[in-house]
Amino acid sequence: MDNFFQHKARKRFGQNFLVDENIIERIVRAIGPKESDNLVEIGPGQGAITQLLLQRCPSLTAVELDRDLIPMLQFKFRDYPQFQIIEQDALKFDFGTLCQDTGAGERKLRIVGNLPYNISTPLLFHLLSFRGKVQDMHFMLQKEVVDRLSATPGNKAFGRLSVMVQYHCRVQGLFPVPPQSFRPAPKVESAIVRLVPHAEPPYPAQDEQLLERIVNVAFQQRRKTLRNALKPLYPELEAEQLPVDASRRPETLSVQEFVQLANYCANLAD
Ligand code: SAM
Repeated sequence: MDNFFQHKARKRFGQNFLVDENIIERIVRAIGPKESDNLVEIGPGQGAITQLLLQRCPSLTAVELDRDLIPMLQFKFRDYPQFQIIEQDALKFDFGTLCQDTGAGERKLRIVGNLPYNISTPLLFHLLSFRGKVQDMHFMLQKEVVDRLSATPGNKAFGRLSVMVQYHCRVQGLFPVPPQSFRPAPKVESAIVRLVPHAEPPYPAQDEQLLERIVNVAFQQRRKTLRNALKPLYPELEAEQLPVDASRRPETLSVQEFVQLANYCANLAD
């Protein structure tokens, strides 16, 4: 039967299939699925992780863009009636629709995936928009992206992705995965990361869109001082009034300091 569904990995869909059983088990152990969970897998591919997840949790929805993989997945997991596949682009999918209220309260989503690396940053931002409905997320990503997600201020990897994801989530880099665990082997190292959305951000921004705009503009100009980096947004800014030293480089500011800055600017606009 396997031959019947032979599939050639497609580069444009970022297809690098996991073939290392030990790594697959380790990922599933890190996720720790429970029978009552509401699991969502992005990009199940040929079902390498799906298989082990389903053995522990029958309620799983997979979102897969490559329609050629769907008949094989349906056949492979035909004995799991609560397994459903949605043929969709995860970047456009409304994940909120999967968070049902069973009467006994909402079953928040546990999202997992060995993500297509070519879309990982926009996908992370898309997923953040559903954070209120998400219990946690476990992803395989390029190691370099996991480093950026978990970077601390002053670190070269610290940037827009670090600030915005850490603003919304607790980030935990778990373990590295070498290229030979995949077929075809990617050119880069990979790693597993856990993201747990905060119930409330520890340092709430009055206007989250403004925070995002400030962080964007600040990191477009990483080598400049904060005063100069913010000029495109606030040409008239009085640097002495800022809650953080305007001569610092943006990459040295903590998430909390970015929030302080955004809250100061939010009040300027009034
Ligand atoms: N989970 C499988 C594994 O670990 O072997 C496959 C992982 S592979 C790195 C990425 C998967 O995401 C592929 O199955 C690919 O077709 C799918 N994919 C690519 N772009 C997607 C998108 N925009 N939305 C949903 N799935 C996508």
